[in-house]
Amino acid sequence: MEQPYVYRRRPLVEPDHRRLPGWRDVTDAQWRDVQWQRSHCVKNARQLRSVWGDLVDDRFYADLERDQAERATMSLLIPPQMLNTIVPDGPPGTDAVYADPVRRYMLPVLSDRDPAWPSHPMATRDSLHEQEMWAVEGLTHRYPTKVLAELLPTCPQYCGHCTRMDLVGNSTPQVAKLKFAVKPTDRLDAMIDYLHRTPGVRDVVVSGGDVANLPWPRLESFVARLFEVESVRDIRLASKALMGLPQHWLSDEVRAGMERLSTTARARGVSLAIHTHVNAAQQVTPLVAEATAAMFEAGVRDVRNQGVLLRGTNDSSAALLDLSFALLDGAGIMPYYFYLCDMIPGSEHWRLAVWQAQELQHAIMGYLPGFATPRIVCDVPYVGKRWVHQLDEYDRERGISYWTKNYTTALERSDPAALSRRYEYQDPIHTLPPAGQEWWRAHSTGELAGAR
Ligand code: SF4
Repeated sequence: MEQPYVYRRRPLVEPDHRRLPGWRDVTDAQWRDVQWQRSHCVKNARQLRSVWGDLVDDRFYADLERDQAERATMSLLIPPQMLNTIVPDGPPGTDAVYADPVRRYMLPVLSDRDPAWPSHPMATRDSLHEQEMWAVEGLTHRYPTKVLAELLPTCPQYCGHCTRMDLVGNSTPQVAKLKFAVKPTDRLDAMIDYLHRTPGVRDVVVSGGDVANLPWPRLESFVARLFEVESVRDIRLASKALMGLPQHWLSDEVRAGMERLSTTARARGVSLAIHTHVNAAQQVTPLVAEATAAMFEAGVRDVRNQGVLLRGTNDSSAALLDLSFALLDGAGIMPYYFYLCDMIPGSEHWRLAVWQAQELQHAIMGYLPGFATPRIVCDVPYVGKRWVHQLDEYDRERGISYWTKNYTTALERSDPAALSRRYEYQDPIHTLPPAGQEWWRAHSTGELAGAR
């Protein structure tokens, strides 16, 4: 009997950008130039049409425009490098574009959304409550020994399902973004000051947004200041741009700077790593592998992937294994986590139920080396990451899973019930049996309906 998944080593492919009408005359030198990439990002349907032209029907561009006007929580921004991975093996036709796994999350259209339940009634803008846990503005202290430092609110690309939709990116017609109130230099000073005052923290995720949008000297100076904090042992730089804009990480300035930082990290016994975010195998191209190799050459300790499970993008064991093998074999990137998509507004059509994630975790076990088998995790509001099999109880009819926690945050210091309480996560309503869907219809009035 054949195995449920058949492993084959697949060479990475850089799709030829000249297959697209708008880039017919773009040279390889321009393509590799980070400034060219940044200045040719696609930000709206008109610019997308100037790349794809009439290969794609008007109905798609209209669908995209309607989504931006009526539903999108993120504005459009996609660098040529990433756009080029959509329908990689030929000129994009309309049907192929609609079906493409990268298009599904980078260029969402209105017809993708669930018309009955575009949002879960319990969806919220800051669904992980990160702002409530800010120790100082932009520094989320949620776990006992680690913090997340949001250095800036922008990225070189905007993902439709972004968890930090409350803060990251430009406002859309539906979502006025929160703005940091404190000046950037003062915010970063306050973060460093907090870390000096809080020696229990040993691990700092330097994020945003995406650190690739911070001018290099400012990022280097912030990381250098982290090295001065005696308790900090792990530093991870979060950048989807390692995949979306590898040209940034291949630039001379960044390579030389990473070499300086890695040398200091080694001398101080600190582990400096890069965390990226790739959701589909076709996004792992030779340029991504080259940028990753450049980072290893510069001396970073590891490059790891934190993908998001998304319906229509990677919701099969074959898609997850293809992606994991492309990362591991092709680029030396460690497949580390896949998150369930968080409960932000407009995400219902992307989300999977916890039981589906459990089935996927089961189906991908045993093919990859154990150290490179990604864990599928649910980021439970007020709790944090839990492996999907760790739930305490599960009401499958209403799609409510119950979780517990084993540490407190600053929010719960004076709450004696924090460690015995159960915290909830909700499955997408379209995955529920009719009785469960009916229950949510009956209970989605008043306050709850406001989130729809
Ligand atoms: S790169 Fe990360 S922070 Fe930026 S839009 Fe995508 S998911 Fe959000």
